Amino acid sequence: MDSLFVGFRAERVIARRDGILVVDKPQGMVVHGGAERLEADLVSRLSAWLRQQGHDGYLGVHSRLDVGTTGVLPLITDRARNPEVAAEIEAGRAERVYCAAVSLGRRCRLAEAGTLSHRLESDKRRARVVERGGEHAVSHYRVLHEQGGRALVELRPETGRMHQLRVQLAAMDAPIAGDALYGGAPAWRLLLHCRERSLLGERFQAPVPAELPGWVSTGSSFVELANFQQRLLDAAVLRAPLCSGGDVFRVVNEQGDGLPGITLDRYADFMVLSCATPEAEAQAQAVSDFLLARGVRGVYLKHRERRDLRRAAAPLLAPSVPVAGEAAVSPLSVREGELRILTELSDGLSTGLFVDQRDNRARVADLSTGKLVLNLFSYTCSFSVAAARGGATRVTSVDLAGRALERGRANFAANGLDPERHEFVQADAVRFVRGAVKHGRRFDLIVLDPPSFATVGKATFRFERDIAGLMADCLRLLSASGALLCVTNHKKTTLPRFRRLLQDAAAQARLGVKIKELPSGLDCPDALDGPHPSKSLLAQIVVSEARSLR
Ligand code: SAH
Repeated sequence: MDSLFVGFRAERVIARRDGILVVDKPQGMVVHGGAERLEADLVSRLSAWLRQQGHDGYLGVHSRLDVGTTGVLPLITDRARNPEVAAEIEAGRAERVYCAAVSLGRRCRLAEAGTLSHRLESDKRRARVVERGGEHAVSHYRVLHEQGGRALVELRPETGRMHQLRVQLAAMDAPIAGDALYGGAPAWRLLLHCRERSLLGERFQAPVPAELPGWVSTGSSFVELANFQQRLLDAAVLRAPLCSGGDVFRVVNEQGDGLPGITLDRYADFMVLSCATPEAEAQAQAVSDFLLARGVRGVYLKHRERRDLRRAAAPLLAPSVPVAGEAAVSPLSVREGELRILTELSDGLSTGLFVDQRDNRARVADLSTGKLVLNLFSYTCSFSVAAARGGATRVTSVDLAGRALERGRANFAANGLDPERHEFVQADAVRFVRGAVKHGRRFDLIVLDPPSFATVGKATFRFERDIAGLMADCLRLLSASGALLCVTNHKKTTLPRFRRLLQDAAAQARLGVKIKELPSGLDCPDALDGPHPSKSLLAQIVVSEARSLR
C-alpha cells in the first residue's frame, strides 16, 4: 500500500537539473504553509521526498500557484541559483502561459484576443478591481475554443498579483469555472492550469488536464469514471500525510476528489468502497482490482444507491465477503491517532466507525479534559472513547441499539478504559434529553450527531421534525460555558440552514451562544459544485445569565 500513499508522485516531475526542480502541481494542495502540522503542503512533501534521496531537502520558492491550480511550478534546490532566479522574476522576464475554462456571462467583454489591464487591491483572502490606487495588473489572452457559453482561454500574465487571472477574468464577466470566490460556474475544481513557463532560458511544459477542455465542451468537469486511475492516485497522494497519525481515513470523497458516487475508506490493510450511483457501481470491480494490485489486502463493497437503500435487504447492499482479495478479521482494530476502534467490515453498511468524523473526534478529545460529556446517538461510542481518552471525568452514551452500546463498551476496553466508570444508556435520545432537562442534569460537552432518519423498535427519529427541539433541550442541559457539537449529513440541510436551526434553538432556550463552523478534514474535501455531505457546528454558551430568566 506504500505505493498508494506517497507524499509526492515522481511522475509529476517535469525536470530536475542544475539546481532546479520543476513539477506539475496537483490540484487541492497548497504550495507552502497551510495545514503545517501535517506537513501536507507541496514544499514539505517535496522536501521530504528529496531527503529520502540523500539531498538536504532545501527548496527555494520564488512563485506559487493557488491551491486549486495545477501546472508548472519551478523550485530551486541549489541555493546558489536563487539570485539569478529572483532577478529574472523581478525583471518580469519569466514568461508564463496559463489555460482557464471560463463561463461567458451576459456582460462578457472578451474579444478573440486582447489585453486585460486593471488596478487590483487585495487583503489576505481576496483581491478586487479598483478605480484608483492598488497595483497595476496586466494579462494578455486568446480564446482557444468557445462552446455553449463556455470557453477555453489562454492567458499570459505580465504582472503577478494575487489571484490576478481569476479577478481579471471575473471582472470581464468570464469567471473561471470552479472559482467559488469570484463567481465561477460550478465545476469540480478550479479549472486553471499553468501550461508553460520559462526559467533561466529554458521552457517547461505540463499538459492541460482533460477536465478543462472537457468542461468547455460538456459543461461538466467529471471524467469518464472508467478513467478513475489518475484521480484515485492523486486522491491517495493528498492523504499521505495522514498515514503517520493512524491507519484509518477517507481516501476518496466523491465529487470532492472528482469521482462522483465513489467513497473509499481505508481500514488498516483493507478498504471499504461505497458506490452511490450506477456509474460508480459499474467501476466497482475495476477499482477494487486496481487497489489490490497496489497492495491492499481486501476490498469490501457497499451499495449505496438511494433507490436500493430503501428497497433491498441488508445482505444485498453489503456483501459479507470482499469483492477482491482476502477477508479481514472481525473485529478489525484500527488506529486513529491515540484511539483504537474495533470495526466490522463484513457486517452491514456501517462498519462501526464513521471515518469522516476523525477531526471532530480529535476536537472532542481536546474539549473533554475534566468534563462531564454526553454523547447522543452514540452508536459504537467512538466519540465517547475520544472524550474519555481526552480526560473526561465521565461520559454518558445514549443509543437505542443495545448491540451498538455493547460494541461501545468493547471500544472502551480496547483503549484501556474501564467502561464501568462511564454510563451507557439504551434509550430514545429525544426522550432521554427531555427527562434529563426535567431532572436538572448538567453536562459540559454534548455531542449531537444523529441520523437523518432512523427507526429503531418503536421510536422513529426524523431529522426535519426532531432536530430543533433536540438542539434546544441539549443547550438547556449545558453547564455555564458548556459546548454543543452538532453534526449532520442531512442532504437538504445546508450549512447556513443548520446554523439558523442552532441559533433558533438557542433563542428558544434563552441562551446566548457563539457558533463556530468546523471545517472538514484533509481527507474529506468538499466538491465546489456538490452538496457538502457532512456539516459541523460548535455552539459555546457565552451568556448564561439568561438562565435566570427561565
Ligand atoms: N454519532 C455516531 C453515529 C450515529 S449512527 C458516531 O459518531 O459514530 C445512528 C445511531 O443512532 C445508531 O446507532 C442508531 O441505533 C441510533 N438511533 C437511531 N434512532 C435513535 C433514537 N431515537 N434514539 C437514540 N438512538 C437512536
